[in-house]
Amino acid sequence: RRFFHSVNFITNYYNYWRCFLAHTPIINFIVRFSNFPIKTLREAPKDEQALNAKLLIRASFIDKLASGIYSFLPLGLKVLKNIENIVIEEIEKINGIEILMPVLHPKENWEQTGRWETFDALYKIKTKNNSEYALGPTHEEIIVPLAKNLISSYRCLPLYLYQIQTKFRNEPRAKSGILRGREFLMKDLYSFHKDSDELEKYYDKVKIAYKNIFERLNLKTLLTEASGGTFSKLSHEFQVLTKAGEDIIFHCDCGFARNKEIIKDVKRCPNCNNKLKESSGVEVGNIFKLNTKYSDPFKLNFTNEKGEQKQVYMGCFGIGITRIMGTIVEVYNDEKGIIWPETVAPFKAHLIAFGNIISHAEKVYNELKKQNIRVLYDDRKISIGEKLADSDLIGIPYRIIISEKTITQSKVELKKRGEDRVELVKIKKLIYLMKK
Ligand code: ATP
Ligand code: MG
Repeated sequence: RRFFHSVNFITNYYNYWRCFLAHTPIINFIVRFSNFPIKTLREAPKDEQALNAKLLIRASFIDKLASGIYSFLPLGLKVLKNIENIVIEEIEKINGIEILMPVLHPKENWEQTGRWETFDALYKIKTKNNSEYALGPTHEEIIVPLAKNLISSYRCLPLYLYQIQTKFRNEPRAKSGILRGREFLMKDLYSFHKDSDELEKYYDKVKIAYKNIFERLNLKTLLTEASGGTFSKLSHEFQVLTKAGEDIIFHCDCGFARNKEIIKDVKRCPNCNNKLKESSGVEVGNIFKLNTKYSDPFKLNFTNEKGEQKQVYMGCFGIGITRIMGTIVEVYNDEKGIIWPETVAPFKAHLIAFGNIISHAEKVYNELKKQNIRVLYDDRKISIGEKLADSDLIGIPYRIIISEKTITQSKVELKKRGEDRVELVKIKKLIYLMKK
């Protein structure tokens, strides 16, 4: 017994570290509906206009606290983590290094750039003893003085720092669900360069990384010219064309796209002379050449090879993590609910037992668990109709049904969300398909 006990201990220990090292939660491969906090609603909440918020609240992914302020429930958090992981992987491929900066920003930092007065959506806080702070809506005012401590000579450049963090903006129109939060998650990457040529090259690299990110997220984006502010001719936005979008994009099949904000009198394209189409879009990402806009006020300089003092050139690159989740819901849904793309879905499969066949269902459940397949197992004692409706609403990519009928054939019923075809497959084939 002692021998088996120690084998068991070693196996568990091994599994623990294997999972830990692979960044994979150990116990979360399979979740039983009955002890997981999911509470679906038949009706959409009355105070929400946006489809993403209606569906995400009904399907128990998010909970509304106030206008533009949401909690992410366990299902929703899984989606956010999947989005984050894709973003992190692609940003680290272009040498991004992760940091985490404060949310509370001293007023002085924002006065230094003049944005204490000019940043309209800034949340300002005054303490009892009259110290003033901003709640971070973006982090140039923090990262530039921080970079002064990290960058002294050309040997420290280039440098690419990013974070994924909650941002705060007092958005006047927070009516688009999680597309426009007053509190939202952003990935912000800041790059530091020795000159504008190097910045230019990195900017193009980020464009490609963003293209890869949005492809992996199953979002079709349009690279759109937008205002570069006072410090650069143009910036670029990654726009997803959907009627839920708040931006107006003029675009053409030749690839040209420009935000209405800077379109002026252009009716045809500059490249092909076709008439431009007009669509609404959601800005899921934004890339900027800051040049020396922020190095100037904070005197962020470095010593070059010749021993001369030079200004650091900067780029900043944002992605809206929570906005992406909302955009995916706006794009992928039908009258029954959400249809998650596999890469971001909270689970790969939704297992439903139909009838009095618990022991068989448990067998399939254990088999899937052994294979580390991410499954939500609906073990509740409610009607099959309710289970099917919830499964369509929640929108997990594969639905597996086990019933007396499927058991007599030693098979399970498999259906992809969003498709009508139902397939009867053997467990072995099911495992094969789920692991693909
Ligand atoms: P918008 O034009 O939509 O107000 P922005 O241009 O002010 O956004 P940035 O400052 O460039 O946005 O922020 C980077 C990214 O953060 C944006 O591309 C967007 O995806 C996301 N984002 C900005 N504001 C919000 C918000 N209020 N809620 C959710 N995501 C946001
Ligand atoms: Mg914008």
